[in-house]
Amino acid sequence: MKPADAIQDLQYFGEFGGVNPSISDSSTYTFLSAKTMFDTFEGNADGCYLYSRHSSPSNLYLGEALAAMEGTETSNVSASGMGAITAVLMQLCHAGNHVVSSRTIYGGTYAFLKNFAPKFGINTSFVDITDLEAVEKSITQKTTALYCESVSNPLLEVADIRALAKIAKKYNIQLVIDNTFSPLSISPKILGADIVIHSLTKFINGSSDTIGGVVCGSQELIDCLRNVNDGAAMLLGASMDSLRAASILKNLRTLHIRMKQHSHNAMYLAEKFEYEGIKTVYPGLKSHPSHNVFKQQMNKEYGFGGMLTIDVGTLIKANELMELMQKQNLGYLAVSLGFYKTLFSAPGSSTSSEIPEDEQKEMGLSEGLIRFSVGLDNDIERTFQSMKKCMKSVGVL
Ligand SMILES: *Cc1c(COP(=O)(O)O)cnc(C)c1O
Repeated sequence: MKPADAIQDLQYFGEFGGVNPSISDSSTYTFLSAKTMFDTFEGNADGCYLYSRHSSPSNLYLGEALAAMEGTETSNVSASGMGAITAVLMQLCHAGNHVVSSRTIYGGTYAFLKNFAPKFGINTSFVDITDLEAVEKSITQKTTALYCESVSNPLLEVADIRALAKIAKKYNIQLVIDNTFSPLSISPKILGADIVIHSLTKFINGSSDTIGGVVCGSQELIDCLRNVNDGAAMLLGASMDSLRAASILKNLRTLHIRMKQHSHNAMYLAEKFEYEGIKTVYPGLKSHPSHNVFKQQMNKEYGFGGMLTIDVGTLIKANELMELMQKQNLGYLAVSLGFYKTLFSAPGSSTSSEIPEDEQKEMGLSEGLIRFSVGLDNDIERTFQSMKKCMKSVGVL
């Protein structure tokens, strides 16, 4: 089943026949009998709501749609992407355990694994995720999780999920994939991953009006995360609010249309930039080192995604260009991604600034790098012509 069809087929009606499900505007829920309340705490009363930090009808609706999209048994939504990532890692790892992670990951995730998790005796080896030999060599007796992004931030390296899944199975460890950059385009679970995470803040919600996250996985995993006695989602408390879950579900309904347009526009700009001689990184370009890996694992109709980077040499030029493009109404100088409007930022001095400078260099994150989240522009040729003018005017072209 195609991921967008799986979302579309899930219908919930509102309490009075509304075309959208009713919003559960309650933090706590009544029980008809005291016995049912006891059973619910024991985890033995399926379908009963207890308290909205644990679950709520609105959160379950959104969660089921996201699980359908990713092809997992179920999911748990959270207040942010980091709320999903930290809960999963804290659930999978005990003191003394070890994580093998891609070295090019979201700055917050990197900071968590590098600086925070060690306080609890959880240590991480950071590797080049496209080097499968290095990945396998880093696994130890203590490793419980293999972690990466399907398309990495900000360098757009593509993980070979099928190959990583084979390695994870061989050593009996969990393969955790952050699929934030490539919703619909890549379906990590279908390719063999165990757990799929999203920051809903980005493409999935798509309107830059909230943060949110989700963990998609087996019923067993999600039950563990929600367990009232030792579940990381339940106890760390990054629960999504029901009103937000309802609004994100409505935005999810148009995700397939938006992703096609993001991908179409990004492909158009990437080809034009490259033709003009600008160093351009986009997985849809044949020049991209993992173009074929992306191609072999993608759901074709949604394209190669909305993210691309260009390298204009220096941070000064990058800043000049971004300021001018903003002035010309071509987008916003802002972090984050997945908005209708193009967003651009220089990762080295913003979203990846948690990564020390020497490590940035080693992973190929140069200071003149500009990351684009390409918007839904109706006439992308017009956009390109205006961008070209800006590039000429700051001397990048
Ligand atoms: C933004 C982002 C996150 C963190 O999500 P929040 O919703 O901001 O907590 C994690 N991973 C990736 C790839 C991201 O882009």
